[in-house]
Amino acid sequence: MEKPTVKICKEKTLIMKKPILGIIGGGQLGCLLSVAAKKLEIKTVIFSDDPVAPAQHFADNFICGDYKDKKNINNFTNLVDRVTYEFENIPFDILDTIQKSKNVIPKPEINKLIQNRITEKEFLNSNKIKTTEYAVIKNKNDIIKNEKLLPGLLKTTTLGYDGKGQYKIHNINDIDINIDFSKEYILEKIVDLQKEISVVITRFGKNQYEIYNPIENIHENQILKYSIIPAVISNDIKNQAIKWAEYIVENLDYTGTLCVEYFIDKNNKIYANEIAPRVHNSGHLTINAYNISQFENHVRAVCNLDQIETRQLHNAQMINLIGEDILEYRNKKLDKNIFFYDYLKKEIKNMRKMGHVTIIE
Ligand code: AMP
Repeated sequence: MEKPTVKICKEKTLIMKKPILGIIGGGQLGCLLSVAAKKLEIKTVIFSDDPVAPAQHFADNFICGDYKDKKNINNFTNLVDRVTYEFENIPFDILDTIQKSKNVIPKPEINKLIQNRITEKEFLNSNKIKTTEYAVIKNKNDIIKNEKLLPGLLKTTTLGYDGKGQYKIHNINDIDINIDFSKEYILEKIVDLQKEISVVITRFGKNQYEIYNPIENIHENQILKYSIIPAVISNDIKNQAIKWAEYIVENLDYTGTLCVEYFIDKNNKIYANEIAPRVHNSGHLTINAYNISQFENHVRAVCNLDQIETRQLHNAQMINLIGEDILEYRNKKLDKNIFFYDYLKKEIKNMRKMGHVTIIE
């Protein structure tokens, strides 16, 4: 009688063995992913080219070095069972090299599509998801030809975020002579914004996903400052935003957490601004406002753990602590409904996200 029991135990242990999760990138999203993984007893290894990457303080292991260096890639992949990433600006070649030895989730091909603003917008429009009006710009003449898009924002097609790599152009007499045209751009018509919202969704498999209620986002100097749930929007806008997010993850055959950022204009029209193929800053409030956060759901989906029904427990507001904002909170006694997160970044810099606070109702 005893032998089969031993066998069953052994099989169970095998089935229950949890993967070691490699995370490319060591910023605040890496910190919060590592914390969520720890809760699920999943070990994490951060791979970053930044020796002071804050996520090293939250992960189990840290590989530091140039992402392109094969030796670093091997050191990293030897330590992990599967790989995810916390920022989308990783050259495709690096993810492709890694995926030859370890499963990279979400698929590197998805990242490649989304990290370029042109292919991202083409993907959205070809799926009848409305974006802002835009044109591809290679030189000053292309801007003049697209005068109808002014006032507009000139954005680098790759590597831009938080307004970086962007120029505001009011009219054709206002084209900055210092624009570096060795890079490719898109010119986007400026939307007369009523508000900005985002939808965070975690997909586990075909038609299996957990979706968070739309979040309202307020930016200052093109950096996210406040995120609030519930977003104050009409039911039509809410349904459209959710439907498009579901459509995007299904269409990409996506695994993990993804965020779609939307603009709503003064005529109540909605446009998809960007897709982030990763956990997102606007979803930080899900840690305290939901039973399962966007980070935990990402780890669950990527590591093939159970999908648990995700429910909102509280309305909430998240405030990004930028630059010296953090100092006020480091030694402050906070009420029970206020949760403070310090990313433990080594240096306080202006315009840099240092931590956040979530206030639940
Ligand atoms: P992005 O890096 O494209 O997400 O832009 C950062 C922020 O700049 C957005 O969240 C908006 O607040 C603002 N922004 C970007 N593009 C536009 C646009 N076409 N019209 C109005 N505001 C914009």
